[in-house]
Amino acid sequence: MTPVYTDIRMGDIVRMRKPHPCGGLQWEVVRLGADIGIRCQGCSRRVLIPRSQYLRQVKTLISPGPQPDRQIELNKE
Ligand SMILES: [Zn+2]
Repeated sequence: MTPVYTDIRMGDIVRMRKPHPCGGLQWEVVRLGADIGIRCQGCSRRVLIPRSQYLRQVKTLISPGPQPDRQIELNKE
């Protein structure tokens, strides 16, 4: 079962629907907030886009970043 991608994490590697002008297709999440900061894996350029637009433009989550909530979940058990 694949959950819907809404849990954006630092370090997520994603593929966007449209390639960057440099030809790069993969991006890394480098900043979280109301706007999401992503860095092109092709040319290292950083872009800020609103979260809603980011989620629309992501095609595939290639490699999820580390889980920051894992410690909390473990403590609940
Ligand atoms: Zn690029």
